[in-house]
Amino acid sequence: MPTSSTTDRFDSNFLKEVQEGSEQNLTRCYQCGNCTAGCPLSFAYDIPVNRIMRMLQAGEKHAVLSSKAIWLCASCETCTTRCPNEIDVARIMDVLRHMARREGLVAEPPVRHMWDAFLNSVEKYGRVFEAGMMANFVRRTGRFWTDADLAPVALGKGKLGLRPHGIKHPDEVQRIFARFREQL
Ligand code: SF4
Ligand code: SF4
Repeated sequence: MPTSSTTDRFDSNFLKEVQEGSEQNLTRCYQCGNCTAGCPLSFAYDIPVNRIMRMLQAGEKHAVLSSKAIWLCASCETCTTRCPNEIDVARIMDVLRHMARREGLVAEPPVRHMWDAFLNSVEKYGRVFEAGMMANFVRRTGRFWTDADLAPVALGKGKLGLRPHGIKHPDEVQRIFARFREQL
């Protein structure tokens, strides 16, 4: 018999950690399912978002942090808008991604690599440099043909910069990243 409050399936501190990290009261969720009904990515999720809320209440830390759903979430905030109890569900999904990353439980590595490539680009140039970000993503994942068919269209519309866009004080953006790292 386990003597602590943590077992393979259950962690009694999980709910508290997520509530503190997101500043949301998750005990308000009464499983109406509105968040899942509105979520445009539900078809791809391994766990529907309302069930994730229930599993949080039940302390099922490992199962939640190992899920693909938290990485496939597009942060569109439809769930947040639809929740009758004013729970910021999208913010909770964001907190869960951070926790999963810290615990080494990233179920969708390409999504994490895309985020890292995006943030590296913003840190370096002050705003995203599209072609450089894609090159970085390809280098990290070896997925050479991801969205390659969209490149000519994006280029034609001027949406794919081939050179970094300059901003006035990129050092200020770099200081924001440095401050964030100090808090880790
Ligand atoms: S923020 Fe994420 S979980 Fe919420 S509706 Fe959008 S994709 Fe679904
Ligand atoms: S919409 Fe809000 S109350 Fe309803 S299931 Fe989702 S999180 Fe819970």
